[in-house]
Amino acid sequence: MPGTTEQNAVEKMESPQYAEENQQLVKELFRYDRQLKLLGREGQRKLKEATVLVAGIGGLGGTAALYLAAAGIGKLILAHEGIIQLPDLNRQILMDSARVGEERMAAAEESLKRVNPEVIIEGHNARITLAESGSWVRAADIVIDARYDFPERYALNHLCVTAGKPMVEAAMYGFEVSLTTIVPGATPCLACLYPERPQEWEPLGFPVLGATSGLAGCLAALEAVKWITGVGRPFINVMHRFNTLNMSNYVVSLRSNPDCVCCKNV
Ligand SMILES: [Zn+2]
Repeated sequence: MPGTTEQNAVEKMESPQYAEENQQLVKELFRYDRQLKLLGREGQRKLKEATVLVAGIGGLGGTAALYLAAAGIGKLILAHEGIIQLPDLNRQILMDSARVGEERMAAAEESLKRVNPEVIIEGHNARITLAESGSWVRAADIVIDARYDFPERYALNHLCVTAGKPMVEAAMYGFEVSLTTIVPGATPCLACLYPERPQEWEPLGFPVLGATSGLAGCLAALEAVKWITGVGRPFINVMHRFNTLNMSNYVVSLRSNPDCVCCKNV
């Protein structure tokens, strides 16, 4: 004879698996208590189920990854090549002075795990390329472009447009920060906005203060949280720009380029 519904419920509640799941839920509600007031349990659940690709874990992307981990994102896919160098440390907060000369990604993964061991991290000690990075983009719900050089940013843009994935485009130069979210088919893409690589760009020598790149990284993380949870509205079809020295700011309306080499057929 099968048990009654009540008996089944009692058995379920007394099972070790139920106790474990319940304990995990209580732990999560406690950990995220302060933000549940803003996102709700549904928003928190969406964060836990989401995957974000953070392309670049320097001053901007490292800060974005840190706050996404702290907020309880389910999975972070990270990409950044190379070793930690002393001049990285004025802004790359996932790094460690004691580990100069070691692989950047390993240090980042350890830092993020210390902040929130619940987050799944898939780290790639690699640059963004059309050939290698497509699966990372397809696995993500949203992508944060935090690469410093234009060839990689164009490659990431192309992959996002092809896969139909939104891409947060946060950038800083000197004391200026700019922010928009690109949604394939609904907004211009990066190649619409910058058809050619800006002439003044110095890939490895542009001026940067950690507080400014960190601010841009926080804004990028917030854009991703907004997109995933539905709280607030991401900045689409507009680019916000502001100067962090005097808080002067302006908003630019964005339009697609009908002849864009990347997105004209999307
Ligand atoms: Zn375009």
